[in-house]
Amino acid sequence: MGEDVTDQQKLLDAIAVEIRAHVPCGFQICEQATNLVPGEGSATAPVVVVGEAPGANEDAQGRPFVGRAGAILDDLLVAAGLAREEVFITNVVKARPPGNRDPTKAEVAHWMPVLEAQLALIAPKLVVPLGRHALAHFAPGAKIGEVHGRTVTERGRELFPLYHPAAALRSTKLREALFADARALGALLR
Ligand code: URA
Repeated sequence: MGEDVTDQQKLLDAIAVEIRAHVPCGFQICEQATNLVPGEGSATAPVVVVGEAPGANEDAQGRPFVGRAGAILDDLLVAAGLAREEVFITNVVKARPPGNRDPTKAEVAHWMPVLEAQLALIAPKLVVPLGRHALAHFAPGAKIGEVHGRTVTERGRELFPLYHPAAALRSTKLREALFADARALGALLR
């Protein structure tokens, strides 16, 4: 059992090594990145949190959610009773779009096999898409304002969508909704 876990983590780490060595691929976001950002956390995580794409801080450090939105994500995980190390945190796209623009459809498609490989390996109980762009990847047509804070089954996958943590920086109402949803996530996992 212990050895299996180690092997699973090794395989996940191998995907991260591949991601970091990814260029040249012809995609500007990948070729201009300071660091590719594979994601981090446990290979046996019950929950995989998926953001949209790395921002400036993540690009500089090569780690997901390390800026202001990341600080909120950390607080949300605490509210859900989860330690950062026991979940896996990643993004749909592993390279920072310049100026923090939204990733294009082609960029999302470019990175999709990698995200799917990570998810297949971890096989989490729940995937938590953060914000409407990540949600669109998992449940096209679903609206974050309607499905946040509850489970949605899509193509056999259990989702628990949350607003993007950056929304809490803009709106007290969304901040309250985010924390209520995080507590609901914690209750669901207990
Ligand atoms: N926003 C995201 O969607 N992902 C990050 O890694 C950081 C900010």
